[in-house]
Amino acid sequence: MGVFFLMLDGVGLGRPGASNPVSAGLPSLSRILGVPLDSMGFRSGEVRTSRAVAYSLDARLGVEGIPQSATGQTSIFCGINAAAILGRHENSHPGSHLAGLIESGNLFHDGKRRGKTTFLNAYRPEAFSRMEQGTYTPSATTIAAKAAGIPLRSFAHLDRGQALYHDITHWTLRLKQPDFPERQPVEAGKIAISVMREHLFTVFEYFVTDVAGHRQDEKLAHYVLSVLDQFLTIVIEGILSEDYLVITADHGNLEDLSTPAHTPNDVFLVVISGKKIPDVPRPLDLSHVRQLVGQLIEVAS
Ligand SMILES: [Zn+2]
Repeated sequence: MGVFFLMLDGVGLGRPGASNPVSAGLPSLSRILGVPLDSMGFRSGEVRTSRAVAYSLDARLGVEGIPQSATGQTSIFCGINAAAILGRHENSHPGSHLAGLIESGNLFHDGKRRGKTTFLNAYRPEAFSRMEQGTYTPSATTIAAKAAGIPLRSFAHLDRGQALYHDITHWTLRLKQPDFPERQPVEAGKIAISVMREHLFTVFEYFVTDVAGHRQDEKLAHYVLSVLDQFLTIVIEGILSEDYLVITADHGNLEDLSTPAHTPNDVFLVVISGKKIPDVPRPLDLSHVRQLVGQLIEVAS
């Protein structure tokens, strides 16, 4: 039994329309939920089917301004309202205040307390040398994993089919190094399942969705969503009756290609399982994700 937690960057519930590639861009999810991934599909705030439950979550966290990654991800991983604590939305990588909060307790700690826990993302060789030199600026997830003593996976793991690069297919690596071998999304999905089988709690972060949103690049948007959808199709097939797949995002962006900025839109939290999904208090914003995932870890352990 296990919990697979997929964190997306910059994917919100926007208005359906020509500038929203997310709405119909992840058929693997909308098929299971029976609604499109947009503000109309989630207008009641909650979607329930035999295999899934989904909620819309407030990513604004009651703080003025546009939601950002550092505060959003800290809120998700720590179960706190990081934006309210700082009094603002913090962009990109967590500063020392947020880093301290992440280090004091996060979802990786929750997983590790109950069983084998891992972070599936592979880091580039340069990342490890820069971490040693102290010149690496870590993301919230990197800080969270390291704080809980979770070993980071490397390109050696990637070669052996025991890790995934954040973009799944290696397209960002291949821009600089065209001979770097490509990974098919289907193969990536199988790797995710095989790693999940060995762990109680597995985390994977996919953030090129935010990159495509910032670039307002429709072609790239469709590509990153298609890769994600093919990956998810395999992962969903592999979620046996005893397992849980949880997907959420830190803030909106890709669902509105009419702007290069993040959006104030809600994000979705989707839980998929063949097993009955435990009754939990309806999560309302990003700060409620940790509690819900923690409960699923408890049930799965
Ligand atoms: Zn962004």
